[in-house]
Amino acid sequence: MKENEVKHLAQAFFGGIHPSDKKAATNKKPIEALPPPTHVVIPMSLHIGAPCVPCVSVGTHVTVGQMVGQAQGNVSVPVHASVSGKVTAVEPRIHFSGVPVMSVVIENDFRDTPCPGRRPPAAPDSLSAEQIAALVQEAGVTGMGGATFPTHVKINSSVGKADTVIVNAAECEPYITSDHRLLLEHPDEILGGVKILARIFGVDRVHIAVEANKSNAAETLRLKIEEEKAPAVVDLLHTRYPQGAEKQICQSITGRQVPPGALPAAVGCAVFNAATARAVYQAVWNGQALTHRIVTVSGSGVREPKNLLCPIGAPIRTLLDACGGVDPKTFKIIMGGPMMGHAQFDMDAPIGKGTNAILAFCKDEERSSEHPACIRCGKCVSVCPMRLQPVFMYQYQRAGMLRELENARVLDCMECGACTYICPGRLHLVQAFRAGKLEINNAKAAAEAAKEENRRLAHGL
Ligand code: SF4
Ligand code: SF4
Repeated sequence: MKENEVKHLAQAFFGGIHPSDKKAATNKKPIEALPPPTHVVIPMSLHIGAPCVPCVSVGTHVTVGQMVGQAQGNVSVPVHASVSGKVTAVEPRIHFSGVPVMSVVIENDFRDTPCPGRRPPAAPDSLSAEQIAALVQEAGVTGMGGATFPTHVKINSSVGKADTVIVNAAECEPYITSDHRLLLEHPDEILGGVKILARIFGVDRVHIAVEANKSNAAETLRLKIEEEKAPAVVDLLHTRYPQGAEKQICQSITGRQVPPGALPAAVGCAVFNAATARAVYQAVWNGQALTHRIVTVSGSGVREPKNLLCPIGAPIRTLLDACGGVDPKTFKIIMGGPMMGHAQFDMDAPIGKGTNAILAFCKDEERSSEHPACIRCGKCVSVCPMRLQPVFMYQYQRAGMLRELENARVLDCMECGACTYICPGRLHLVQAFRAGKLEINNAKAAAEAAKEENRRLAHGL
């Protein structure tokens, strides 16, 4: 597939930026297995939704794929052991979000004993959408592009509403190549997931969206689709950040715009990350729980950048060690991409189901200024894919004008970082919007609490 075959999209989304993709360090490197870590830390919160409750205790011997944390309610998925061995602690441990989270620590016995209780269903091909969703929940499958939204909830809430299914393989953040390598090395398993999704959604073909900087992967998929007569089509999209954001990819593929505050199902779309499609396949056909994922380890501070297949819960330092360690001048380590990732301060924090990259930086990548100042250039407005006005939102947040900030639709900000990237005044725009959202939500919660207190007093309760 040639670059000039890139789908020319009248419906391409508004705004966006073109950062250097920095993928060359790892996009030709085959996936390698992480040397087995001595222990893994499985947090009870590896997804959006209610955290799990540990269902093993210190001293329990666990096997790979065995449940160690039970889901709580419907918007929750269980967590599973990613190595076999002995549980040595059930206690709060530092999480990649920066705060301690209840976790199960497993000392690796290096035997990788599979869980005997995990078996594939008898006839995966004849399962209903509800049965597939139940299997996917039981296997702990979440969105693996970073958001970690439980996949069974997405299936249950969009089957019957969505007429377009999109497998998101855009991987638009710089540096990250984990999905790219997955497309090249495991197209059959991705198509296995695609076939399941096509059947349960009742669509003739699933759109697999790939950015033009991965045209070799698009070609690999296209050949595989042809060979297997799979119900799929590859859409090669322009390389533009944030092409992989759910709302933007819906618009790029279908021309439909997801309204503010709504989900893709509102415009008849269901979007699944490529690694998630593979996890669906593994859960349904192999009875496999989500225990491993591919992580790109890259950035100027990493001595030997790689794509590593890692057990979930492996400490960040084990990934960096497997890549020759970091340069002593490293000043920042990020989980995720440089645009939306989160800085990490504790290398003992574990990787999660949504960890697509660990990046380390040691050169002059730091763009912050001691004296950020807006020069009113308007660039932030021109790149915002949500059509927001970051320059004004920033001023409202700084001035504590929460009503004006909310009216400016800060809650629609998806924190993509395009405005921060383009801002010549070096303003910390995304940080301000994150803080602003928290302030608005806290103010709402306080107002609700005060209302409840007044009601209680009025009724003499
Ligand atoms: S971070 Fe928010 S305000 Fe900035 S460009 Fe992205 S969506 Fe727009
Ligand atoms: S891009 Fe930065 S300097 Fe330009 S208007 Fe926006 S906030 Fe101000």
